[in-house]
Amino acid sequence: MNDLVDLRSDTLTAPTDSMRAAMASAEVGDDVYGEDPTVRRLEERVAELFGHEDALFCPTGSLANVLAVGLVVAPGEELICESSAHVARAELGAHAVLGGVTTRTWTHPRGLVDVDAVRGLYAPDMGPFFVRTAAIAVENTHNFAGGTVQPLESLQGLRAFADEVGTKIHMDGARIWNAHVATGTPLSTYGAVADVMAVCLSKGLGAPIGSLVVGDADAMAAARVRRKRLGAGMRQVGILAAAGLHALDHHVERLADDHAHAQLLADAMGVDPAGVETNIVVAQVPDAAAVVAQAKSQGVLVSAVGPRTVRAVTHLGVDRAGAETAARVLGGLLPA
Ligand SMILES: *Cc1c(COP(=O)(O)O)cnc(C)c1O
Repeated sequence: MNDLVDLRSDTLTAPTDSMRAAMASAEVGDDVYGEDPTVRRLEERVAELFGHEDALFCPTGSLANVLAVGLVVAPGEELICESSAHVARAELGAHAVLGGVTTRTWTHPRGLVDVDAVRGLYAPDMGPFFVRTAAIAVENTHNFAGGTVQPLESLQGLRAFADEVGTKIHMDGARIWNAHVATGTPLSTYGAVADVMAVCLSKGLGAPIGSLVVGDADAMAAARVRRKRLGAGMRQVGILAAAGLHALDHHVERLADDHAHAQLLADAMGVDPAGVETNIVVAQVPDAAAVVAQAKSQGVLVSAVGPRTVRAVTHLGVDRAGAETAARVLGGLLPA
């Protein structure tokens, strides 16, 4: 395994030795009883980082998204999002199946917020004829668009629009940490744009598991009930929350290294490095499956996220030497 450079996803990180040590010594209690001090510390810390009242620890980002969206969109109401958003494409219909949520989308080649498009889609309550728009979801950074960062002015423009018409904003911030490190925008500034958020500890931050819903105290109390109803009330999970706290202490600023490694890959893969803002490089190729297979035979794992789209994601588990190896291999397969 050690000689493989695995760029399929930043979910593939393994906990470091010091993270494992923090997990082993975590103080725990029964979190369904609200008695796990480590989980509470993580929830309070994450809430404070984003300037919200409270947060709720979840096993996955998909569940955090379902709970967050469920707080702002009732069954039979509508969520507007970008067409390649994770909530629309990669959660296996969870919002429809579990939440009765319908979706309409705008499309942007870089996955970005388009306030004019949202304005065009937005549907006020018009009685028993049309689905009412209850919320707008925005993904920051945008995964399938290549780790793009939502410009702050667009987010603030969207907030102004939401306030104008009285709708809510959900931010899928699975990789909000990457946006923060890439731009220097404070997490609380991103937090101020959203009514509810979902953030992941298990991507570039390197925790083995863990995401949080972020929002106001009443909303988190409601999400806590629904989390249990969906079967995700957890017991002595301070052992997992400790990994998240360790990641917040040690793995946020280092995301800059992942971003630098992504620049190296972009350059080698013939992708404009200026378009690679964080840790995800997306390249268009004639045959994605062939590139994946050829790269694998040379010890570099990347993924096909479409028939002609290859994705490489840098992370904690890939050092400079690994990134240089991958750049050499991928550069040979994808003429710059
Ligand atoms: C990974 C990810 C999630 C959550 O995924 P899980 O695998 O359920 O933890 C949500 N949104 C985005 C943009 C993601 O990349």
